[in-house]
Amino acid sequence: MADLARRTAGKAAERFLQEQGITSLPIDPRAIAEAIGIAVIEKPDTSAGVSGALIKVDNQFVIAFATHIRSEGFRRFSIGHELGHYLLEGHAEALLPVGQEMHQSQAGYRSDDKYEREADHFSARLLMPNPMFAQAMRSAGEGLDAIMSLASLCETSLLATANRYIEETDLPMAMVVSSGQRIEYAFLSDELKEFRGITWPKKGSAVPAVPTATFNRVDANVRNAQRENNESDLRDWFGGNRSVPLTEEIVGLGDYGRTLTVLSTDTFADDDDEDVDLEERWTPRF
Ligand SMILES: [Zn+2]
Repeated sequence: MADLARRTAGKAAERFLQEQGITSLPIDPRAIAEAIGIAVIEKPDTSAGVSGALIKVDNQFVIAFATHIRSEGFRRFSIGHELGHYLLEGHAEALLPVGQEMHQSQAGYRSDDKYEREADHFSARLLMPNPMFAQAMRSAGEGLDAIMSLASLCETSLLATANRYIEETDLPMAMVVSSGQRIEYAFLSDELKEFRGITWPKKGSAVPAVPTATFNRVDANVRNAQRENNESDLRDWFGGNRSVPLTEEIVGLGDYGRTLTVLSTDTFADDDDEDVDLEERWTPRF
């Protein structure tokens, strides 16, 4: 269901870009809003959790973004999120019923609300649409380096870019966002999900005994946006019964106070099945 919402919202964003004749990166969500007659304004009076708002006065729509957001990438993501509310079917009707002038948003995958999630998926695809994003991935290199170079190409935040990258990759990969010794968010690529018996780390669960846990013990690592390359094992992160070496790339997210970990391997789950077959063939039967 969640995957369906992701796909539907993503397709709507890509279709919209096609209709607008936009075919190159970076995408400018502000220019897009203005081109379809929506003013984009600053909103200094928003509370901490609010990223922006969609406002409707006398049938005129306005997009506001919270000025406490300092990251340009996240500002752009917020504007994309509000565009999603305006363009996705059913959103404006549900969020701005007659008599209500403003919907306040929590963009950035922090809300479990259906409309908020859909608007996030819309924004991610609007700013990092296919075929352009998939094309750029082919020449971007690997892992965290690739994610960083795509973030600068698309002018998107590192987290939003990592998310799109993991969604699009055909390698077993995962991203984990942690704060101290707690996991805040994890996202696994389809190929990684193929490994049998692994579990998806839950929000709020402890970071296991992996290099990220050690990295996070030193505040300055996070604050100064330090970067480390390490190795760990699939089992340490996700359980399961198979040992698979992982590359564990870690980067501190500075003022944001969190850490991004990118995990990857070139071992595929299928290789596992082959191993089993081979083993069975060589095990004498009684
Ligand atoms: Zn919203």
